[in-house]
Order: sequence, then structure tokens, then C-alpha cells
Amino acid sequence: QLYLQRIERLDPDLNAFITVTAEEALAAAERADARRRAGDAGPLNGIPIAHKDIFCTRGVRTSCGSRMLDNFIAPYDATVVERLEQAGAVMLGKTNMDEFAMGSSNETSWYGPVRNPWDRTRVPGGSSGGSAAAVAARLCAAATGTDTGGSIRQPAALCGLTGLKPTYGRVSRWGMIAFASSLDQGGILARSAADIAPLLQAIAGFDPQDSTSADVPVPDYTTALGTNIAGLRIGLPEEYFGAGLDPAVAASIEAAIDELRRLGAEVKPIRLPNSPLSVPVYYVVAPAECSSNLARYDGVRFGHRCSDPQGLEDLYKRTRAEGFGAEAKRRIMVGTYVLSAGYYDAYYLKAQQIRHLISDDFRRAFEEVDLIAGPTSPTTAFPLGAKVDDPVAMYLNDIYTIAANLAGLPALSLPAAPVGGLPVGLHLIGNYFDETRLLATAHRLQ
Ligand code: GLN
Repeated sequence: QLYLQRIERLDPDLNAFITVTAEEALAAAERADARRRAGDAGPLNGIPIAHKDIFCTRGVRTSCGSRMLDNFIAPYDATVVERLEQAGAVMLGKTNMDEFAMGSSNETSWYGPVRNPWDRTRVPGGSSGGSAAAVAARLCAAATGTDTGGSIRQPAALCGLTGLKPTYGRVSRWGMIAFASSLDQGGILARSAADIAPLLQAIAGFDPQDSTSADVPVPDYTTALGTNIAGLRIGLPEEYFGAGLDPAVAASIEAAIDELRRLGAEVKPIRLPNSPLSVPVYYVVAPAECSSNLARYDGVRFGHRCSDPQGLEDLYKRTRAEGFGAEAKRRIMVGTYVLSAGYYDAYYLKAQQIRHLISDDFRRAFEEVDLIAGPTSPTTAFPLGAKVDDPVAMYLNDIYTIAANLAGLPALSLPAAPVGGLPVGLHLIGNYFDETRLLATAHRLQ
């Protein structure tokens, strides 16, 4: 009730929620309480959370931030949703997001932009901007998000939260609406690593419904929080501290790294020579996959349909023209172009080859270090509207986060010292399935 009251009072201004499921939440809280009284409380019994509106929720609208799915009521729950519910968590509603998770500022949403609770004239980051604003404003205790190129970590950084993108395959993508399937991974935004641990525990692990789900044992993340970090080898990539990084953000990150040194970590410079190619590679691979994933929105099976179609082609054209926003259309056009005969070899194939080189850089780095550290985002939260007309400036927000998705590595953002009253994120990248070390390191700093 406390959280629902806060949502009622604060969300009309923040716009963090697309749908609030107040009645269902109170009923779920009653059920959690009954479980507690019966001695059958789940590990997250009664914890109020919110889901990014990209996760299918049975009987509740799942819009993906798009007009295309404004009328879509999911007939089933995503695995992430189902597992959190089984653990006893209570869903308060569905959070706002960039349309189909395409964006870094939450300004491409059909439901309007989200405001950053730290400064309501600024963006919360994206695409999980609603989840980040909701947790930061204490409208829920934690929230789910998805990260294809930075969409959990960048909004976590800009809103002063801890956000974890797990290893690709660690968390099931079943029921998570696809943007770029080889990059998408679900995860958690919360106030601290200690809060993330039990939520990750609930959602991690093999799922036969997702063919890319990894059948790897799940460790006890809460126990792992206590792992000592003395002697931990941390690499600082030269490429993550160059031009484009705000000097005040750099100073905040350097102070956080000094703190890691004081805690006993051994910090050394490393090279990730292909990392400057991450953004161009991502903006070939992600649009290619999205153009294929978004082909299903044809006005026939579900979602938006134009009125009074004059034949099949008119149905397709008008449905898609009306249903998708400008950024989704831009990506579909880029994606179909780079996949088309004659251009496939020059763009898509080339991008896949460079993606391999980027992964190889990390493989070599992890022979020398245990974690890689740097800034999550080159700047603090920028003003609403500042980058809406400049897609390239918007894409550069993810310059430090995208490589982890291309390589499938786990990565986390946690708060460093604020700059000018605005949050800054310290970014940590780990080796495959080493979420434990990311959480333990963040926990030591918190
Ligand atoms: N900002 C990036 C994009 O627009 C990443 C989004 C994401 O991680 N979903 O594609």
C-alpha cells in the first residue's frame, strides 16, 4: 500500500509506469502473507517489484513501449515473471521503456518520456528508464530490465542505482519480447548488489523454453557477496578513458578505482584494441536482428491493425506505418539494408567478423585480470530533448556498455561519487558466468 500510494502521488510527474496493477498487487500481497503464515514464505515473499513492459505478463497489457502493442494482452507469463512470482515477489505494474528497447533516454516510448527523479528536467537513461526511475524514486523495491547494448547499466548509472546485465544465456529470454536476439539479456535494477543477489537467484538458471539458455549451475549469490576482493586483478582499458569522457565523470571513476586499490585490489592498465569498433558493429548487428524480429508485427495475428485495409499490402503498410515510431523504422530500414543481397557481405558479415575480434580482446584480457573497470556512461544524465534529433550522439551513450553484449559477458553498474548533484556509474565487466565476483566487488564498495 505504501508503494502504491507513492506511485499515485509521484508517478503522474515521473511517468515511470505504463500500467499499474494495484488490485492484483494487493491480492498478491495477501497471498504472500498467507504463505508466510503457513510457513511457506518464498525467498522474496511480499517484496514489491515492477517489470519492464517488455516482459509478457498473463492477462496484463505488455506494450513494449510501442503503439504497435498498445492493445496486446499477453496470454502467458515470461519465465522471469513466473520465477519472481513463485519466489513470492509482488508485481506493482509494468514500467515505461524506449519503444522495443531502442534508445538510451526513454524518449522513444509511445507513452512519453520518463523524468529522472534526481532532476526532472533530465532523462533517466534508457531503454529501461521507467524501471530505473521507479526504483530511484522508491516506487518499488527493485525492477526487471533488459540490456541489449546497455539498457540496464546506463539507466542504473544515470539514476544512481546498481544494475546487472548477466552473462548471455544466464537468464531465460522466454516471454521477453525480442529486439536483437543474440544480444538481449534480462537482469535487475536495484538499490544495491545485496538487493540484486536474491532477485538474480530467482531468475537465473536453465530454461528449456529458450534455446540459448545456458545449462550451467547457479551459485548462491547472496553467500557470494561476502567474497574477499583482496588480490583481485582489475584491468583499466586505455580505450575507456579517452576523448568523449566528461572530465568530472573521469575523476569520479578514478576515485572509485582508488577505493578498490585501498580494499586490496591490484589495478593495471590493459588494452581492448577493437573496442572503438563496438558502436559501429552494434549498429549493424542490432538493426539486422531487429528488422527480422519486428517482421511479425503485420496487423494479422496480434497488436495494432490499421482501420479498413484495402487488401493485404495496404494492411501491412498502414499497420506498420502507424504502429512503429521513428526510431524503430530507422532500425528496420538499416537492418533490411545491411541484410540485403549485395550488401550482406560488406556490412553484416564484416560486422560479425569484427564482433569476433571484440570477443577475442576480452578473452586475452581475462587471461591477465579478473574484472575490467571503467565508466558506464561518458556523461551524467542529459536534459530531456537534448539528443532526440541526433541519433549518432544518442548512440554514443553506449560506447562503454555495448562491447559486453557483443561478447555476451556479464557486467554491472554501481554508483560512484556524484557530479554536480547527478549520479555517476562505475562499470565492471566480468568473465563468463562470473556474476558472483561482480556482485561481491560492488558489495564491498557499498
Ligand atoms: N541504446 C542502445 C540501443 O538503442 C541499447 C538499447 C538496449 O540495450 N536495449 O539500441
